[in-house]
Amino acid sequence: MIFIGNHVSVSKGYAAMGRHALSLGGDTFAFFPRNPRGGRSKAAAPEDMAALRQLLAKNGFGKLVVHGAYTMNVCAAKEEVRANSLEMLRDDLIRLQALPGNYYNFHPGCHTGQGAQTATAQIAAALAAAVHDAEEISGLPLQNTILLETMAGKGSEVGGTFEELQAVLTQAAQLGGDALSARLGVCLDTCHVWDGGYDIQNDLDGVLRAFDRVIGLKKLRAVHLNDSKNPCGSHKDRHEKLGQGSIGAEALRAVVRHPLLQDRPFILETPNDDAGYRTEIQTVREWMA
Ligand SMILES: [Zn+2]
Ligand SMILES: [Zn+2]
Repeated sequence: MIFIGNHVSVSKGYAAMGRHALSLGGDTFAFFPRNPRGGRSKAAAPEDMAALRQLLAKNGFGKLVVHGAYTMNVCAAKEEVRANSLEMLRDDLIRLQALPGNYYNFHPGCHTGQGAQTATAQIAAALAAAVHDAEEISGLPLQNTILLETMAGKGSEVGGTFEELQAVLTQAAQLGGDALSARLGVCLDTCHVWDGGYDIQNDLDGVLRAFDRVIGLKKLRAVHLNDSKNPCGSHKDRHEKLGQGSIGAEALRAVVRHPLLQDRPFILETPNDDAGYRTEIQTVREWMA
């Protein structure tokens, strides 16, 4: 079995967010700890965080897949953008120390002309620095696992290939050793890998074999379950409702049922309102059965 849920908002607080996810039928969810377009994040009351932890435990939730802001770009050519992004990453990690045992997923970034090689080194350095600072400031070892998201390879996006993600992981291991390495993984987004040229419709086994060869499947910790508006290899990144896009229901059902992908949180990032998410969560549960 897998855990299934969708993106929910933290705007009414942490416990309220958990109740909302539960009401949609989910047993995991994603949220932005700050405005997805960047900006400040509200401080969370410790009792509110504790109430959410209790709700998750009581209802058998799987790991949450928190999402870093879209504006975060730790490999931008502009130093100021890199510095602000590093600060966001560090602050998110510190905030989430109060929600241990979950995942924090973020977009590796856009190299904005610097080239992927420079970018992967900058992302690795940012991860090492952010984890170091978060641990020092909070006085605790990092309580969550950080996931790099597979990207569609749109524009100068880094992470459109498994090789680029592995380059980040390898360089991070060189900087932070096994301790940092153990805190890093990958979140596979079905729309992004498809748009990136990995044919999960006709050769899911082959794509997972490639992932295993380049990165190792034990690093694949979470899935973003989305259909795509565009053909394989389009490098577009436009999500579609399950079964209404170019990947299709049959292929997405095979992803949900794949033996190598079980026991992981799957997050819907499809264009839906609450009623739509409730229906899709139900559909995925039928696929699982
Ligand atoms: Zn994402
Ligand atoms: Zn995604």
